[in-house]
Amino acid sequence: MTESISTGRRHFASDNYSGICPEAWEAMARANHGHVPAYGDDEWTTKAADLLRELFEVNCEVFFAFNGTASNALALSSLCQSYHSIICHELAHAETDECGAPEFFSNGSKILLVSGEEGRIRPESVSHIVQRRCDIHYPKPRVLSLTQATELGTLYSIDDLLQLQEVARRHELRIHMDGARFSNAVASLGVAPKEITWKAGVDVLCFGGTKNGMAVGEAIIFFKKELAQEFAYRCKQAGQLASKMRFLSAPWVGILENGAWLRHATNANRMAELLETSLKQIPGVEFMSERQANAVFARFRPEVATTLRARGWRFYTFIGSGGARFMCSWDTTEEDVNALVHDVRELMQAK
Ligand SMILES: *Cc1c(COP(=O)(O)O)cnc(C)c1O
Repeated sequence: MTESISTGRRHFASDNYSGICPEAWEAMARANHGHVPAYGDDEWTTKAADLLRELFEVNCEVFFAFNGTASNALALSSLCQSYHSIICHELAHAETDECGAPEFFSNGSKILLVSGEEGRIRPESVSHIVQRRCDIHYPKPRVLSLTQATELGTLYSIDDLLQLQEVARRHELRIHMDGARFSNAVASLGVAPKEITWKAGVDVLCFGGTKNGMAVGEAIIFFKKELAQEFAYRCKQAGQLASKMRFLSAPWVGILENGAWLRHATNANRMAELLETSLKQIPGVEFMSERQANAVFARFRPEVATTLRARGWRFYTFIGSGGARFMCSWDTTEEDVNALVHDVRELMQAK
């Protein structure tokens, strides 16, 4: 680890391995002047929320929290009572990587899992799970939680979302979106952010900043303002109300005011595209899902992964044996991708 810090090598393990982008860093420096009111009553926080309202072209309620787990858990808990349930994909971060935080903060709302190819939930699965039990003895489905981009690096198209909105409306489900990689989704789909959020029925979006060049900080955006009632208390109770809030909000100003959020996401996506195209030229490399955002899921002989690690590459192999996830970041370069591809090619050719 120390070695990788000193050499400054970039990895493909996760987009949170990367550092802070210049725009966020510079905004934090700009915010670091004098004394300003605490707990969000400052100009940076007002400005960041205004920029988000501009970006989404709607009058929404905006909050900032330290990380994605808290954002998801608190947003979800504001959408349901303890006797409700939350429908999400079996690979959803809320299920697999939040240590039960959604259940904890909602005082016991049950998570109902559905499977779905390439990380996406299908409308039929939602109807099926809702209709499976409609009696008083089972938690009442209340929320549909979608991840955009998904945990398998795929996307929900506008059409997918409209179909899910329809099924959600039919069953009176609210829609939560885990947007840890929302920027990558927008960059890849080439749509206005509103098209894949409130215009498709999303009630709350957890918009990730960390994985797109910020040190910390996610924005929780309520498109249905009444759902945000007393949400500030939830944040405070959960230890998520930053007292020096300007340092959580200023980076948002930095990445939003000049479009850096989209440039960085576009770079990460392009690098993943390059990685996918290059790996496809290596005989024997297989792919686990279609690349649409900044992740490539590839499969090769287990010993290849071991040797890549021995050469210092970092990546996750948590899904399927022999499967590796390569995640590109805002600062991944073509040289990084080429160096990785070079090593994979060499190891695949050595029998
Ligand atoms: C990274 C990530 C989060 C946020 O995780 P934290 O470590 O709590 O910030 C949420 N959802 C998804 C899909 C993620 O990949």
